[in-house]
Amino acid sequence: MTEDIKNLHIIHYPDPRLRQTCGPVTEFGDELAALVKRMFELMETGKGVGLAAPQVGITKRLFVMNPSGEPDDKRVLVNPAIRDPHGSVEAEEGCLSLPGINVQVRRAQRCRVTTQDLEGHPIEFEAEDLPARICQHETDHLNGILIIDRMGPSDRIATRQTLRALEDQYQH
Ligand code: ZN
Repeated sequence: MTEDIKNLHIIHYPDPRLRQTCGPVTEFGDELAALVKRMFELMETGKGVGLAAPQVGITKRLFVMNPSGEPDDKRVLVNPAIRDPHGSVEAEEGCLSLPGINVQVRRAQRCRVTTQDLEGHPIEFEAEDLPARICQHETDHLNGILIIDRMGPSDRIATRQTLRALEDQYQH
């Protein structure tokens, strides 16, 4: 299994695994730690600030993030839930599974996040601005939701060709 984890890569829209509702993580151990390590590698190579397990083809409820890009800001969220969303802010988002797509997405400005860490310990924290946005974007992934589901009419027109090209690439 460890060898399989090394071979994981980021999958792109319209791969159907990005549309599944992910199942809970129930096993905490070496395999989960190896998966998380690989997800951080792929996120950093892609210059992303967050990456969810379904984006590497693993339909389990976990994601990694690093809002600031600093080594001590790496976070692992297992079985996360967003609570008490407040405020509403629109900002541009991209996604490592949607190369070439950047769209305006409206999200809560702050929220509470309840989750587990890599060892399964419960954690709860307040997030606002970028970390709150990342948590909402990545939790969407765990429910099969992508930023193209949340974009407005003008982005829908602007991204049409890029999305079609991604669909053609996937079929070939
Ligand atoms: Zn994404």
